[in-house]
Amino acid sequence: MKKTLTALCAILIAAPATANVPPAQPRPTLENQADMALANDGVAWDFVEGITTEVGQRQAGTEAEARGRAWAVQWLRANGFANVADEPYMMSTWVPGEPGRAEIVSPFPQSLAVAPLGDTASTGPEGITAEVVMFRNVAELVAAPEGSLKGKIAFVSNTMTPTQDGSQYGFAGPTRWVAAGIAAQKGALATVIKSVGTDDHRNPHTGGTTFPEGVTPTPAGALSNPDAANLERMFARAKGKPITMKLVLTPRFLGETQSGNVVGEIVGRNPSLPPVLLACHLDSWWLGTGAIDDGAGCAIIAAAASRVAKAGQPLRTIRVLFAGAEETGLWGSKAYSAAHIDEPIAVGLESDFGADRIWRFDSNFRETNPALHKKIAAAVARFGVSSGNDVATGGADINIVRDQKGALIDLQQDGTRYFDLHHTPDDTLDKIDIVQLRQNVAVWTQVVGILANEPAPILTGAPSPSAPPIM
Ligand code: ZN
Ligand code: ZN
Repeated sequence: MKKTLTALCAILIAAPATANVPPAQPRPTLENQADMALANDGVAWDFVEGITTEVGQRQAGTEAEARGRAWAVQWLRANGFANVADEPYMMSTWVPGEPGRAEIVSPFPQSLAVAPLGDTASTGPEGITAEVVMFRNVAELVAAPEGSLKGKIAFVSNTMTPTQDGSQYGFAGPTRWVAAGIAAQKGALATVIKSVGTDDHRNPHTGGTTFPEGVTPTPAGALSNPDAANLERMFARAKGKPITMKLVLTPRFLGETQSGNVVGEIVGRNPSLPPVLLACHLDSWWLGTGAIDDGAGCAIIAAAASRVAKAGQPLRTIRVLFAGAEETGLWGSKAYSAAHIDEPIAVGLESDFGADRIWRFDSNFRETNPALHKKIAAAVARFGVSSGNDVATGGADINIVRDQKGALIDLQQDGTRYFDLHHTPDDTLDKIDIVQLRQNVAVWTQVVGILANEPAPILTGAPSPSAPPIM
C-alpha cells in the first residue's frame, strides 16, 4: 500500500501542469454509440419493461391505450426528447367483451379455446348454437355456393409454418382477414378459424378482420391451434354426421372515442431539412401486455434516436411516431398522414415485428441512390446484417411516407418465432431476448445516424414500385 501511495504521489508531483485537465474522452461517434447499444443498451429495455409493467394491455381507442400514451409522453420527456405531443384523432372503437366460449354440443361434447376477432359482432350473452361446416382454406370457402351457409357456423382451417422473413403471414393471413366476411356473404351465422399463428399452445390468436362494404359483421373467433386440430379430427370421426357448436362471443362497439399519436423529436442542426421519421404503434390487443407487438418496436426506435443524439446533434431532425391505434385499422397512421401530408419526410422506417435480431436491410432507393444504400449496407455488416434485393415497402404506421412517395427502409427482423406469440396471451415481456433487443438498437442507431446526417435528398428519382404492407 505504501509503495502504491508513494508511486501515486510521484505521479502527482511530476505532473503538476496537467493535474486539473480531465483525462481525454474518446470522441462520441455513431459507431461507438452503436457498439455501446450492442454491449449494454438499457434504454429500450427501460421503455418496454416500463410500459408493460405500469400500463399492460393497450386495446386501441380505450382508456388503457390513453394511459399508454400518457406514459409514453412522460417517458419521452424524461429521456431528452423535444416537442413531445399527443396529437388526438377520433376512431371507431371495438372492445372484446367477456372471454369467448366455444363448445361442441354433439357428437363429441367438449369445450374449445376461442377469442373474438377484432371488429366482429356479438352472439349475445346466450350465444348461438348451430351446425359447423368445415373448409380447409379460404379458396374452398370462396367456392361454396351462395346461401349454402345459411344458419350455419363456418369453420375455416389453414396451415401456418414459421418463416424467418414472416412471409407465411401473407399466405395464412387471409383466413383471418377475409374469411368471416366471405362466410357472412354466403349466409353464415358466425365464423371460427384456426388461429393464424405457429405455436401449439392453447392460445387463440386474435387480430383484425374486415367485412366487405354492405355486409353486416357477424360474430367470428379464432380457435387455438390445438383446438382447431381437434375439431378437424372430429370431422374425420363424425363420418358425415352433423357437428354442432355453441359459440358465445360478446364484443361491443363503443362508437367514436378519442385516440392519439404520440410524437417527439431529437431536433437537428438544420430543422429546415425534412426529418427522418421512425414509427411504431403503442396499442396492443387485450390478450397479452403488448411486449413484442409493439412495445419493443417503440422501445427500439426511441433508444436508437437517443443514442444518435449522444453521438452529437444530428443534421436532420429525428421524429418518433408512436401511432396510437394500429391493430384495429391503422387509425393512427391514417390520422398522422392526414394531419402532416404537406410536411415532407426525408425517409421513413418502422419497427413492428417483435424484438428478435435484424438480419437484412432493404431500401426503396437501392437503384436510384446506390451510394447511400451501399454506405448503410457497409455500416451494418458488422452486426451480421446483409443487404437485401427486395424493395422496402415500409410498415403500417408510415402511411405518410407512402402517401408522399418518399424514401423507405425496412430493417428486417428474424420472424421465426414471432407468430408463436403474435396477438396471444403469450405476448409478454419475458419473451423478449435482451441480447437480440440490443442488436436491434445497435443496427437502428447506425442506420438512423447515417440518415440523420445525410445532407443530400435521400430519395433521388422515383421510388421503386411498392406494395402496401400487411403486418
Ligand atoms: Zn399486431
Ligand atoms: Zn404490430
